[in-house]
Amino acid sequence: MLWFVSFIEQPVNMAMTSRHLRLALYCVLILAGAAVAGGWAMRQADRHALEERAKRGPEQLNLYANSLHTLIERYRALPAVLALDAELVAALSAPVTPEVQAALNRKLERINGAAQSSTLELLDSTGLAVAASNWNTSNSYVGHNYGFRPYFSQTRSKGAGSFYAVGVTSGIPGYFLSSAVLDADGRFLGAMVVKLEFPQLEREWSLGNDTLLVSDARGIVFIANQPGWRYRHLRELNDSDRSAISDTRQYHKQPLTLMNARTLLSFDDNSYLARVDGPQGTADYVWSSLPLSTEGWTLHLLQRPGTAADDRRNAALAGIGLWLALVFLGLFLLQRWRLARLRQRNREELEQLVEARTRDLRTAQDGLVQSAKLAALGQMSAALAHEINQPLTAQRMQLATLRLLLDHGRVDDAYKALAPLEQMMTRMAALTGHLKTYARQSPSGLRERLDLASVVDHSLELMEPRIKEEAIDLSIQLIRPAWVRGDAIRLEQVLINLLRNALDALRDAPRKHLQIRIEANQQLWHLSVSDSGGGISEENLSKVFDPFFTTKPVGDGLGLGLAVSYAIVHEIGGRLTACNHADGARFTLTLPIAQES
Ligand code: ADP
Repeated sequence: MLWFVSFIEQPVNMAMTSRHLRLALYCVLILAGAAVAGGWAMRQADRHALEERAKRGPEQLNLYANSLHTLIERYRALPAVLALDAELVAALSAPVTPEVQAALNRKLERINGAAQSSTLELLDSTGLAVAASNWNTSNSYVGHNYGFRPYFSQTRSKGAGSFYAVGVTSGIPGYFLSSAVLDADGRFLGAMVVKLEFPQLEREWSLGNDTLLVSDARGIVFIANQPGWRYRHLRELNDSDRSAISDTRQYHKQPLTLMNARTLLSFDDNSYLARVDGPQGTADYVWSSLPLSTEGWTLHLLQRPGTAADDRRNAALAGIGLWLALVFLGLFLLQRWRLARLRQRNREELEQLVEARTRDLRTAQDGLVQSAKLAALGQMSAALAHEINQPLTAQRMQLATLRLLLDHGRVDDAYKALAPLEQMMTRMAALTGHLKTYARQSPSGLRERLDLASVVDHSLELMEPRIKEEAIDLSIQLIRPAWVRGDAIRLEQVLINLLRNALDALRDAPRKHLQIRIEANQQLWHLSVSDSGGGISEENLSKVFDPFFTTKPVGDGLGLGLAVSYAIVHEIGGRLTACNHADGARFTLTLPIAQES
């Protein structure tokens, strides 16, 4: 017994396991999808944050550029104004005595203090510093020659110059702005120089989180708001760059190192995501640049990328939410599709079932009709045997009588004896006629589409001689066409039966009125034959359709007409009923209205 149970359980368990496995697989797929969607959404959020930063870069750069520009502009006019000072012009026009130099030193010191510049110096026509505001410090410029500096040569040739450099004397970097000192004839006597330093600016800039750099035309960073970035060059220096730098001693003894930066993603011409080997190691920055055309420099803003943790989490949640919504929508649609398919299949099965049942019913009904007919035939055969036996016996006796009469040469009497014989044979022929009508199977239950009104026409045509002869008052109200399905000849037989009965009933009636009507209601045709022949007695009303029921005298009625008619009408799906009305009987034939097709 046990082996049987385990044998049964095995496939069940296997089916369960495979369903569980499938369910687990779906769960894993949904979770993996959620992870991918979340990751994707986070990457999108990062990308969006990067682009936002890159977009904000130029705005910030403009602010920084403005502060730098304002600072420089404030001092740009100072050397030009001082170069016009008569005392300075006079001092450079003649050899400078120690007294003049001391007076000039103090004057420059005072002006420098008032203007809050870094240093002021006066160079003679060879570039020698004859006076400087820092005359009494250890880094005093006085006595040093700065003829090698580009700003000096620019001033001699163009009247003004500017140059960023690390001080050769002080070692402090700064921006030198200079203006030519000319005598009354416009001859070049020397240069008035103001030096600006940017520690204040760098301090202000270092308050933010971002890295700010200013590079010169060669890409060398000389201003930086964070330590370690200065004196790095952003691109390779060629030999001419290097010789120019050493000739002008621009960066004095500062070692210049290359800053490695690799572009990862470019947003536009002046902003990109870069991986930079910076002073704090390798890191990624959103790098935006702004060229400063007046100075020939470039301002750089380096922002650390990074999305706020909240934003990333929200993006991931939104991504997962979207994914799950899609999954559920998919599941919902799948379920609906399955349901619709199931319903469709059920409907088809139901239709097939209904068809099969209808077929079975029809077969059963056909069988019933046939067996009812056979039963009726059996009944009739019994009655017939009785009906026919009597006349046959009588006929045999009549024939014997006839033979005797002829033997005795009584021809006239023999003739007379023939008449009842003939009558009996006619009656028997009528009997078999009815039975033939009834037993005739219409070809596979003929159901042609026919007009009930024309059935009435044909039947009346056949009955016309009798109607005329008996002076019947006929009234006809028909609907044409009144389409039904059935067998025209058998329906005519039914109608002829009804008309004949009605005429029989009218034979002795005082008023001979016959009415034929076709009416329609509720998908049915009602064909009624009403007469004024006195009607059917209450007790006979239920018997009129019985075979061999007749109230007519022997020889007139067989009692088969209505029974046969009833069976014919039933076979084509109709009904035949009898009732009484005012002064006669009414027989009503009801048939379904045949549809167009
Ligand atoms: P038959 O006409 O041979 O008698 P039917 O079956 O046609 O046989 O009729 C059966 C009986 O129904 C009739 O004998 C008669 O009594 C009654 N009947 C039929 N039609 C009418 C009618 N229109 N008015 C009165 N009685 C009728």
